[in-house]
Amino acid sequence: MAAEDVFKKLISHCKEYGFIFQSSEIYDGLSAVYDYGQYGVELKNNIKKYWWDSMVLLNENIVGIDSAIFMHPEIWKASGHVGAFNDPLIDNKDSKKRYRADVLIEDHIQKLEDKITKEVEKAAKRFGDAFDNTQFRTTNPRVLEVQAQINLVKERMVKALTTDDLNEIKQIIVDAEIVCPVSGTRNWTDVRQFNLMFETKIGSVSDESSTIYLRPETAQGIFVNFLNVQKSGRMKIPFGIAQIGKAFRNEIVARQFIFRMREFEQMEMQFFIAPGTELEWFAKWKETRMKWHKSLGMGDNKYRFHDHDKLAFYANAATDIEFEFPFGFKEVEGIHSRTDHDLGSHQKFSGKKMQYFDTELNKNYVPYVVETSIGVDRMFLSIMSNAFTEEKIKKDDGTEDERVVLRIPPALAPVKLAIFPLIKKDGLSEKAREIHEQLKFDFNCQYEEKDTIGRRYRRQDAIGTPFCITIDHQTMDYNTVTLRYRDTMQQERIEVDKLREVIAGKVSIRTLLERL
Ligand code: ATP
Repeated sequence: MAAEDVFKKLISHCKEYGFIFQSSEIYDGLSAVYDYGQYGVELKNNIKKYWWDSMVLLNENIVGIDSAIFMHPEIWKASGHVGAFNDPLIDNKDSKKRYRADVLIEDHIQKLEDKITKEVEKAAKRFGDAFDNTQFRTTNPRVLEVQAQINLVKERMVKALTTDDLNEIKQIIVDAEIVCPVSGTRNWTDVRQFNLMFETKIGSVSDESSTIYLRPETAQGIFVNFLNVQKSGRMKIPFGIAQIGKAFRNEIVARQFIFRMREFEQMEMQFFIAPGTELEWFAKWKETRMKWHKSLGMGDNKYRFHDHDKLAFYANAATDIEFEFPFGFKEVEGIHSRTDHDLGSHQKFSGKKMQYFDTELNKNYVPYVVETSIGVDRMFLSIMSNAFTEEKIKKDDGTEDERVVLRIPPALAPVKLAIFPLIKKDGLSEKAREIHEQLKFDFNCQYEEKDTIGRRYRRQDAIGTPFCITIDHQTMDYNTVTLRYRDTMQQERIEVDKLREVIAGKVSIRTLLERL
């Protein structure tokens, strides 16, 4: 099935099974805003806990904070968001659709890259074992021609974006003959800048001075509390401050479900270091963060680094961790070496010293920062799109059946254990309830007694529950139950007294943390 169709199915699955709903649905929805349902919130909380614990529990020198969404408006001038948090916007006059001009160009580059990949695959088939990938890519005239086009477009785009040359951005779109995906025409408006911050008013007077912004990132809440945390926690450089919270961006084009939202959640960590050590720390955080992603067991080939061609003027290194979504490799996390730009700028705008006295170096300085910044919702989408599987299975009587199973990493699954009495009679329900009463303190458990066991299994598969236990007549005699595994559908008999330990060994966040 085409990736697009699988993605559509995933979106309807998320709704049907209580993971994600369109916001304000009964009022026809609010574009690019979503609500998390009863299972979605559990998965989201587990993702956040895994991130938080990996930062705050595992590192003595990282602490967390929870700063307010509303902040002094000067903060956004200091950070550069008032002046420069813009996206270049372009409209197609025929379809009336609005696009981010840089994204149109990036999509065009991707298409050219796909062309090369196809050529390479065709040649690999033709030449078999004798095929030399590097030689083909560096000598084949067609590949070289397309590669030259890519290089030229990239070079022009980086230059135009760096210098904010909107006319040139439009010219690239014209020269590359990029068409609107909806109307198929090249009838474009000029490119304009669009600020992504939402404004609102604070207090009872609505004059210019009461304008404030909904934060477009959580990082600034960390920077402005740098000294508070450093002093009250007696933190010594190097140290980090972590935060999880909502961020808001008035995205021009909200696409791909929860990939690009107008209200979303970030998990950010700013690591404060001595100037001159930033590239070393940047390399370390790149490695640490990639390990965190890979520990989920979704496949190492699903991730790659994408180093930035265009660096922000204050950054001296930046990379994205990209995940292979059904619509291609896209950013889930950014790692940036931000120098002393943020603290230096707040020092200037607030007039307060943002310095640290380094007892080892015996001097004062504005610390440098390496940031790791990941979107909870994008992480959620990566897990769901990887987990969603439709498969054919054999029933006990030999006939074929189908099931939809969410192969969510067990430690992140919304429900860990489903408890089924085989039938409601003979005291089986009471026994099952008794087991539930014991285990509910340790895991998110669900008790179900309606329908056949097969149907109950299907329902749990569809929400990604890694374990189901069935209480039958043997349970009453021997105090054992059948434990059924979601992914293999295998079953084993296990003593009731061992359940807690066996399941904890497979579903606790600790199992993930130990891999780091
Ligand atoms: P993009 O280029 O996709 O707009 P970005 O580079 O602006 O992303 P950052 O500012 O580095 O993103 O934000 C850090 C992380 O926050 C991103 O890696 C992503 O996971 C998440 N994020 C950013 N914007 C959104 C959004 N509109 N919806 C959901 N998550 C987002």
